Amino acid sequence: MLYRAHLLSPDGSARLKEFADGGLLVDEAGRIVDAGAFEALEAAHPGAEVMDLRPHWILPGLIDLHSHLPQFECVALDGLELMPWLETHIFPAEARFRDSEVAARAARDYFRSQLALGTTTSVAYLTVHPEAADRAFREAERCGIRAVLGKVMMDMHAPEALLEDTGASLRQSEELCETWHGRDGGRLRYAFTPRFAPVCSGELMAGLARAAQRHGAYIQTHISESVGEIERVRELFPEAADYTAVYAAAGMLGPRTLLGHGIHLSRSEREVIRESGATIVHCPRSNEFIKSGIMPLRRWLSEGLSVGLATDVGGGPKLDMWGEMAAACNASKTRWALQRLQGLRLDGVEGLDGELRTRIALALDLDQDDPVTPVEAFHLATLHGARALGLEAETGSLDPGKDADFIVVDPRRVDPAASRAVEPAEEMLSRLLYRSDPAMIRATYVRGRRCHALGA
Ligand SMILES: [Zn+2]
Repeated sequence: MLYRAHLLSPDGSARLKEFADGGLLVDEAGRIVDAGAFEALEAAHPGAEVMDLRPHWILPGLIDLHSHLPQFECVALDGLELMPWLETHIFPAEARFRDSEVAARAARDYFRSQLALGTTTSVAYLTVHPEAADRAFREAERCGIRAVLGKVMMDMHAPEALLEDTGASLRQSEELCETWHGRDGGRLRYAFTPRFAPVCSGELMAGLARAAQRHGAYIQTHISESVGEIERVRELFPEAADYTAVYAAAGMLGPRTLLGHGIHLSRSEREVIRESGATIVHCPRSNEFIKSGIMPLRRWLSEGLSVGLATDVGGGPKLDMWGEMAAACNASKTRWALQRLQGLRLDGVEGLDGELRTRIALALDLDQDDPVTPVEAFHLATLHGARALGLEAETGSLDPGKDADFIVVDPRRVDPAASRAVEPAEEMLSRLLYRSDPAMIRATYVRGRRCHALGA
């Protein structure tokens, strides 16, 4: 099928690639054969059936690199910080997944919502229950979404209803990995999922790191999200130099490791993570919602860290990656503005000499970080996410050879003057982020299969 629309894709170097009258040729296997100017494609492939989608745009599907499927039902419950929020809202919700019918229904709603919002790759935490995890995989298999999922692992300091035996947790996780990792030509993959260090023993973490290595599977966990959590890790692992060292000692850091949040990491921790090739997954709305802090996104990027973007439902209130991209830009702008304000205050202190001012500015982390742009945020939600998963050859952009993971977007939904002529791509993208509307996603395709259509 040759789709005709305005094509917009990341180019890999923080710029956009576009074809105003573009064509996307997808073969029977759901692979992108060609992408470019429509006329040239039509001439090169005269027999291809054409689907004219103008005035809609085609963009690559979005990659949500960190979220919690069982928490979808308790999103947007405000008022608490991480540790009390987990105990009050999250653990009771996760305990309900003992019933695998509850789990299957929740998975169906969850993936359907993601597809409707333009997310084609879903990386998610499940619960500790192996049967519920199996049902979630089955739902992902059925609905067509690309998914990396994992049964949560917790063998210490978890509520009784969710506490696991170390050996059983490892065995059940490995069985799920053997069943699902690589299923359907790699569309479904497994992530060993220790929730975070405060609820995992060293034995569990070392065991799962070895298993993930054996199977070429992923590891996903949380790191350095809130100050309370970091203190807890210090109490529980007094021998470790810092939070990152706990995971490093267990052998958990590597290019297939996804570390949620990473807000309060020290310079040396960042260096260890960068060298390991692990990815920091930025979840700006969650960070704002549960008062965790503002991740220095620009700084982490300029240091060469691999960074992806995610909704972190239910810490984040929505599964919509458009709003998340906007939130990444806004959090970055807020951080920039605060740094500027504090710098001005320092300048106003009488008698503060040059050297002392420099030292205080350093201690307060007042280096000016330019805010990230919508085009950069779009890269985080597409190509960078694909790279973080080692799936750059499969998804993340509209380049030939990749699977046809794409979305059809109606730009008129976000334009108050819907009659105006086509705007420059950067301006259009900016509107899609800041004024996102679920009704702008007309259809979502994964590997060429239409998995969502508005009104269908
Ligand atoms: Zn999370």
